[in-house]
Amino acid sequence: MTKTSAIQTPARIDRRNAMIAGLATAGACMLQAPVLSMDKSWIPIVDCHQHLWDLSRQKLSWLQGNDTLGRSFVMKDYLAAIEGTGITKAVYMEVDVDKDEKFLEGEIVTDLCKQAGSPTVAAVLGCIPDAPDFANYVNHWKKNPFVRGFRTVLSGDNDQCVMPNFVRGIQTIGEAGFRFDLCTSPKGLANCVKLVKSCPDTRFIVDHCGNVEIKAWRLQNRNDEASRKMILEWKRDMTMLAGKQDTICKISGIVAQVPKGWTAEDIAPAINFCLDTFGPERVVVGSDWPVCLMGATLVEWIKALREIIASRPDSDQRKLLYENAVRHYAIEKLAVN
Ligand SMILES: [Zn+2]
Repeated sequence: MTKTSAIQTPARIDRRNAMIAGLATAGACMLQAPVLSMDKSWIPIVDCHQHLWDLSRQKLSWLQGNDTLGRSFVMKDYLAAIEGTGITKAVYMEVDVDKDEKFLEGEIVTDLCKQAGSPTVAAVLGCIPDAPDFANYVNHWKKNPFVRGFRTVLSGDNDQCVMPNFVRGIQTIGEAGFRFDLCTSPKGLANCVKLVKSCPDTRFIVDHCGNVEIKAWRLQNRNDEASRKMILEWKRDMTMLAGKQDTICKISGIVAQVPKGWTAEDIAPAINFCLDTFGPERVVVGSDWPVCLMGATLVEWIKALREIIASRPDSDQRKLLYENAVRHYAIEKLAVN
């Protein structure tokens, strides 16, 4: 089977199961009965932020001492985690492997993408933009049919975003036709705005809604002074980032930081702000699995997300959940009706 035909959409599975169930209970006449209409919750999803790591082959020093994440998370774990979510395809996101393993990471994910039936169909690789041989590294991946972009997690205030060698590296990414994922703390967003302005020919993706400080948005905190200031600054910077018309916002990551007892209502305003600010054409969704497990299971995150977007037009939901991903990541169209 080809990769595309091997991946059934949940909608099809749902309908097929309904028919099988009908045949079992009421005989062949059920075949003439109207097919169940597609439930909104079954709009399929392209997961634009899937992590996988195998500690028997890779070194991820940042995992040391992490009780939740300090083990291997491989494809069979991912397949179990996405059950019931509607995720049918995924874009791999780099996992901050140790510096000397960036090429190995690319090779491992390339093998995954080649496997028939694998949900992983494209990749964003790790990088060191201010490394002296960075142009060679980027050019190496130009020949690879699965690589779509690069990321390095930014830290603190992101002072590196204004350093000439780093800026040059991000420009190189754009010149080679790749995207760069901005993954920053909210206080680093202001320097990301400067970086984006310095790289007009690089297309950016803002990961995790700019890592919005979600505790500030909780119903009980939303109106205290510190929270209001944080929210205002985040809104200002996200609006500036959205000003570059080819920048995308990835709706992801938020639940990794949610306090216990969170509800969809706690995270809805921040998500809605991103959806409205970037508009229906420039938003995609990511699971951030298994990092999401720090706050919620993948099923809980997708359930909350579907609840939050339920009142939006069907066409906008489809764009957010898979059409934009198919377009922006140039991946094969999903086999959906
Ligand atoms: Zn992540």
